[in-house]
Amino acid sequence: MPRERLAAARRDPSSPALTTHQPGADHQAAATYTAGVPAPFVTARPVASGAAAPTIGVLAVQGDVREHADALLASGAQPVPVRRPGELAGLHGLVIPGGESTVIDKLLRAFELRDPVRAAIADGLPVYGSCAGMILLADEVLDGTVDQQTLGGMAITVRRNAFGRQVDSFETDLQVAGITTPATPMRAVFIRAPWVEHVGAGVQVLATVPTAVGGPAAGRVVAARAGNLLVTSFHPEVTGDARVHEYFVRLVRER
Ligand code: GLN
Repeated sequence: MPRERLAAARRDPSSPALTTHQPGADHQAAATYTAGVPAPFVTARPVASGAAAPTIGVLAVQGDVREHADALLASGAQPVPVRRPGELAGLHGLVIPGGESTVIDKLLRAFELRDPVRAAIADGLPVYGSCAGMILLADEVLDGTVDQQTLGGMAITVRRNAFGRQVDSFETDLQVAGITTPATPMRAVFIRAPWVEHVGAGVQVLATVPTAVGGPAAGRVVAARAGNLLVTSFHPEVTGDARVHEYFVRLVRER
């Protein structure tokens, strides 16, 4: 995949600023993803009008910050970047983007965000982690670096780069509980992604790689939820399909 496309998306000046508010995103059917063509975010359901937009932070130390912000805007939330501990105040939710979990781990510590984010998670703040974000929310990591720490919070064991070090990216259609229907699967893009090898108590599996894919990835858990924590191995922010972000915004509103 589309590393060039990711880079192009990051450079796109038409992408809304993190603090721009766009009330009432378009109500359209789920997005169709066309490889190589950046898609505007389309949503599966109308954004509730009248309800205040929840403020959702996007950890902005590394990764697809702007793409998550755009998907949150399309889902009726107000995204704000988070780089300092003080910026956690007043948040209704937090997104931890993909990137490189070892680097994000180091930056969280360098920016003195690690302990405040852990405290916020313990306090029940809804947090969505994609790819490296999933690794950071896992209680246990396999194939991590020796000094790698996670924030933890979800009773899962994840394996880093599980789809194979040679396999930079992998795409498949998924059924995601509470989000898709057989007629409206989700195109999932995995970029040097982890999968979940063990699911502990209180963790709800939301998606597994279809068995038809075959090989070691078949049947692996790639999306899960435990209370206020949501994780996906894949990157929904790159496909123009905002349904995972909508699910997270609903979780935040229902909290
Ligand atoms: N392999 C990366 C890691 O270990 C995750 C990749 C991603 O977030 N796209 O953190």
